[in-house]
Amino acid sequence: MGINQADAAARALRMLDHPDMRIPGRRPSDGIRTTGSTPAAPLDISLVDYLSTQVDEMIEHTRAAVDTTTPVPARPHQVYDWALKNTEGASHAVQVERDILIERQGLEHAIRLGDINVVRRHPCPACGSWSLMWDTSSTKARCTDRGCKDDRGLASTWTLGRLAAQKIRGTEIWRRNAT
Ligand SMILES: [Zn+2]
Repeated sequence: MGINQADAAARALRMLDHPDMRIPGRRPSDGIRTTGSTPAAPLDISLVDYLSTQVDEMIEHTRAAVDTTTPVPARPHQVYDWALKNTEGASHAVQVERDILIERQGLEHAIRLGDINVVRRHPCPACGSWSLMWDTSSTKARCTDRGCKDDRGLASTWTLGRLAAQKIRGTEIWRRNAT
């Protein structure tokens, strides 16, 4: 299971690491300007920060779980392959935690790339309906099912980490309630 998630996360990270992505507001399909008179656009610092934060988190998580001296990968998207190789012989618990982190980062990459519908591929952890919507302001997935409210009577909301854990661990509340 870990390998497919790692592939998807690595693909997204490779897209985010494309030089054209570092120019604010530009996408790779816009093409590259080659005129020498155009001043270099500033780096999109927030994206650079994003990449290094994600890679560092994966590396630190792996190093905390297993004793490894393997050199860290040269490119951001290689970090998942690096993490999988380093945790190959680790306990099931370590591999589950690794897969949750990879899944969560994959969701974050997709949203960063503008694919906010990625949360629709996860059932709501409370009611089990496929009715989640990404809420940009709270940076959480919100359930649009009318009957699905939290303790305060508001629409239930979920972090990407919670959705990732649900997918990897199969800990859906609705599934538990159904038995
Ligand atoms: Zn719900």
